[in-house]
Amino acid sequence: MIGKFARTQEWALQLYDAGLIALPCWGGGKALPGTNFRELADNPPPRETIGSADYSGGLSILLGTSHPCGGFVTALDIDAGPRTLPIWPEGLILAEAGTGTGKWHLFLTTQDRLFGQINLRDDNDRLVAEIKGYGLALRSWPTKPPDKPRGYQVVTFAGDGYRQLPDLSSLELAEGLRDYLSLCLATKVHLENHHSNIKQHNHIPVPLSPGLAQEVEDELGRRGIRLRPSGKDGWHSGRCPFHEDTKPSFSVSFVLGAWKCWTGCGSGTLRSLAWRLGIHSGYVKHHKGHLITGWEVWG
Ligand SMILES: [Zn+2]
Repeated sequence: MIGKFARTQEWALQLYDAGLIALPCWGGGKALPGTNFRELADNPPPRETIGSADYSGGLSILLGTSHPCGGFVTALDIDAGPRTLPIWPEGLILAEAGTGTGKWHLFLTTQDRLFGQINLRDDNDRLVAEIKGYGLALRSWPTKPPDKPRGYQVVTFAGDGYRQLPDLSSLELAEGLRDYLSLCLATKVHLENHHSNIKQHNHIPVPLSPGLAQEVEDELGRRGIRLRPSGKDGWHSGRCPFHEDTKPSFSVSFVLGAWKCWTGCGSGTLRSLAWRLGIHSGYVKHHKGHLITGWEVWG
């Protein structure tokens, strides 16, 4: 399929039409001087600019942009791991093989916009994967870094007519990848920065529906869970609704739209919490024939 894109500018337009913004680079993928990734992500260049840029110095894909079909563009840069996932996440746009064995990239959408980067390290503190969002870009095909002559190779591209809505928050994506790489690499992979991404306002939540927040609060109340304020950004703690809990292991913020059980029941967006609490009615919609839950993304 790669031969189809004889000119990189045509490929950049294909990417654009799939909701990915290409950036011209120099020196095998370095950012051009003065590139402001955040500003570009907030105001992406128009299609004509994308289609006429000079990509002879390489191409990167801008991250943290909002996707026309919902969600935000996020990338996984996997340095060590098998070249398969147990499932392709919904929202997948482009998968490409990286510059060496076990290295690959995935560009997909997540429900929320990840600020900056979450690193995944193994128990020797070796970096095994990075998840990148707003403020960053990732080198992509047909870039060939000077020290890595193989460059990247397109594996899967969800071109026109094949777009799935995101089904994961950036944190759920990070936790899923952590668990999967831990299994595959037979080591204990941990996340670096993920709490700061949520707690220090580095996390833009999906716009919350006040109705959904109220339903979640009511359902927790019906289950006898009393929530007490436990920090800034609206964090509250209480007993976890998903395990036999004697202490307040459960945190939820209706301000950030996020939740977490600190003993491991899970974490994610308020939408995923509502789903797990069995709150479906009133928030179930159909999109392109697919049943979806929550209305935060689609207003
Ligand atoms: Zn729990």
